[in-house]
Amino acid sequence: MPDTRLLRSLTLARGDLDRAAERRDDLEWLDSVWQDPATRVLLVHHGRALVTGDAALAFVPPADAAYDGVRVLLAVEDGRAFVALLVDATVEPWEGADGTRWEGLREVGAALGDRDAGLLVMAVALANWHATHPRCPRCGVVTVPAQAGWSRTCPADSSQHFPRSDPAVIVLVSDDADRALLGRRAEWPEGWYSTLAGFVEAGESAEMTVLRELAEESGIVVDRLDYLGSQPWPFPSSLMLGYRARLAAGSPEARPDGVEITEVRWFTREEMRAGCESGAVRIPPRVSIARRLVEHWYGAELPGSWPRS
Ligand SMILES: [Zn+2]
Repeated sequence: MPDTRLLRSLTLARGDLDRAAERRDDLEWLDSVWQDPATRVLLVHHGRALVTGDAALAFVPPADAAYDGVRVLLAVEDGRAFVALLVDATVEPWEGADGTRWEGLREVGAALGDRDAGLLVMAVALANWHATHPRCPRCGVVTVPAQAGWSRTCPADSSQHFPRSDPAVIVLVSDDADRALLGRRAEWPEGWYSTLAGFVEAGESAEMTVLRELAEESGIVVDRLDYLGSQPWPFPSSLMLGYRARLAAGSPEARPDGVEITEVRWFTREEMRAGCESGAVRIPPRVSIARRLVEHWYGAELPGSWPRS
């Protein structure tokens, strides 16, 4: 299959895993997986997982996973199942053994290998969903996990409910002089910048969202839009759709909306490089699609980032 993505190897869109969806209803097989000492269990607690000193996920056998929580079949690789145990938030935190430590996806996502990054994204996305969608939206009864953790069923009306992904667009706009437009959100410190972004609203296409968000946040108009790629952003449940756009001739000048965005700024390549090198300009961490859009425009990796990297 040809790879048509322009943004390759996005940090949280890696791991060409076999999710083994056809096994999710096979209760006998799922039971055997949980008995099998070769099964690799990933413990997820408060959005974090145990990670080894050399940035690999620290799995445990099922016998060492005696905590309350939702069991999720993540993937099967070479006949071995990878399962997540989404440990209940009420369980007291505990220290990792053998030099392992608890790490969140934002902190460790870029350092993990492809397979582990893919597994952790899945596990965190499902953990967030189970934690925030415990009840039936129709009748309010507490639902129960089904399909190896990939859905929830209402015991009162039998309705099925599936994990959500909320699409959001994120866009790097450049002008005729090949400058890039970045914005600073109201809550960010001076010098922090990122690409403009926003959630897709009901009844809207992704392209319509890009045009609306740019108009709302910066007042500009673009005349060309190219889709570059997407990655899940499970904080808690976004799917980021990345675009490049070109400023239209005759567009109004960029100006911040003054509410969400308090500053918009056009950067030349030279200003971007110098700013990132000196630390006067900080762009999002490597785990984000925002940074990849900036580096896609710049043509190379840039130094520095927000403190969380
Ligand atoms: Zn119900």
